[in-house]
Amino acid sequence: MSQIDYVLSAIKEKNPGQPEFHQAVSEVFDSIHPILASNKRYLDEKVFERMAEPERVISFRVCWTDDNNEIHVNRGYRVQMNSAMGPYKGGLRFHPTLNMSILKFLAFEQTFKNALTGLPLGAGKGGSDFDPKHKSDREIMRFCQAWMMEAHRHIGHFTDIPAGDIGVGEKEIGYLFGTFKKIKNEFQGSITGKGPLWGGSILRPEATGYGLIHFASYILAEINETLENKVCLVSGSGNVSQFAMEKLLEDKATVVGFSDSTGYIHDEEGVDWHKLAFLKELKNVKRESIEGYAEKFPSATFYKTGETNIWSIPADCAFPCATQNEMDEKDVKLLEKNGLILIAEGANMPLTDPAIKEVQRSGVMYAPGKAANAGGVAISGLEMTQNRLGRYWSRERMEKELKLIMHGIHEKCLETIKKNDLIAHDYLNAANIAGFERVAKAMLAQGSW
Ligand code: NDP
Repeated sequence: MSQIDYVLSAIKEKNPGQPEFHQAVSEVFDSIHPILASNKRYLDEKVFERMAEPERVISFRVCWTDDNNEIHVNRGYRVQMNSAMGPYKGGLRFHPTLNMSILKFLAFEQTFKNALTGLPLGAGKGGSDFDPKHKSDREIMRFCQAWMMEAHRHIGHFTDIPAGDIGVGEKEIGYLFGTFKKIKNEFQGSITGKGPLWGGSILRPEATGYGLIHFASYILAEINETLENKVCLVSGSGNVSQFAMEKLLEDKATVVGFSDSTGYIHDEEGVDWHKLAFLKELKNVKRESIEGYAEKFPSATFYKTGETNIWSIPADCAFPCATQNEMDEKDVKLLEKNGLILIAEGANMPLTDPAIKEVQRSGVMYAPGKAANAGGVAISGLEMTQNRLGRYWSRERMEKELKLIMHGIHEKCLETIKKNDLIAHDYLNAANIAGFERVAKAMLAQGSW
């Protein structure tokens, strides 16, 4: 085994039983293999090994009392992955399946994504195996208070700034922030995704979904295409999906499919503004299954999670925006057969490794999440700036900033493709190489930490 290949196998051996983490590390490693081969210093200084080892992993007990006075014991986490570029920054996920493998894959990906934004942001990720579904507001509040009661000692505006992710929206951020403020007796920008009345940035809720669609437009422009009249699929129906759909509607595309954990909807006539408002109410306020959408609108059919999935609907563009490994090789083959031209990732690592290989083999354009879904963390970075300045910036300014950052990431990918002689439109390897090089340079400059 060569010295380079040994790097990856040693990381895998050191982290047994963490398949998602192995998957994320292997993907980046494959991209940067030639960079390691031509830069001996990266190997000698063990830069990649250092990137794959979190600076700190915090795991803690979270006890809370439900409305029936019963005590529950959950596990809380914060993985502080890399602070070479700035304070640790990344979301919190509340989901019963959350474990160390998923957290470390998310934190690892975040390292490169945050570097691509060009903002001074390190990387982290955290959360809990707590399931917020079917919990009362009071239960969610007590859980968030208990989580922060322990986590606060590791958080702060110059140290580690969490945000939302699956299961953590503005409501949860409010309870977490309120607890932090109470403990510290200080109103500081220690969390992003806050409400616009209490320190949050305008456009933060929209940023990931909008940024994704901006990025997709920049890619399509490379082949003289636009999103207008394109038939689109957007998996999930949470924060990222809703705002991706909203921007697609603005760009005159037709969204014919979306999903949630109970199944998927095929709406042959497409989602319009009225239907999208209904969907938002259904998911954000009532917190119910998307099945209710098909009951309301006759053009839509609901399919329960089972043999088929959303990717069986013919479309031009697919935006996986739900969760990791939600699209496999067979899905990509079917989408290709049905005429797909673009996959852009709103979710983190939504394609399995064989699915990515299939995309690379085919002519389908592919935007990896590290680049395409960076809009959320970018606007979070600007929320931090506004908090430090004690100012709110206007919607116009935020929209301009978001477009500028997504455009900058796209340009950086094109520049990296050219510089490294990658094949045309190879955004996957470009994003990995560009993110890696930025973080590697910052780490080398700061010594052997
Ligand atoms: P939300 O919790 O708002 O929404 C998640 C959506 O995905 C829900 O519709 C949920 O269904 C669905 N979902 C979750 N797990 C599954 C599953 N196993 N199978 C099918 N559907 C599932 O989360 P976000 O929209 O914030 O996050 C979605 C993805 O985007 C995640 O991968 C996240 O890491 C990534 N991301 C989010 C960013 C952000 O700013 N929020 C930034 C960058 C990336 P149900 O309602 O039934 O639970």
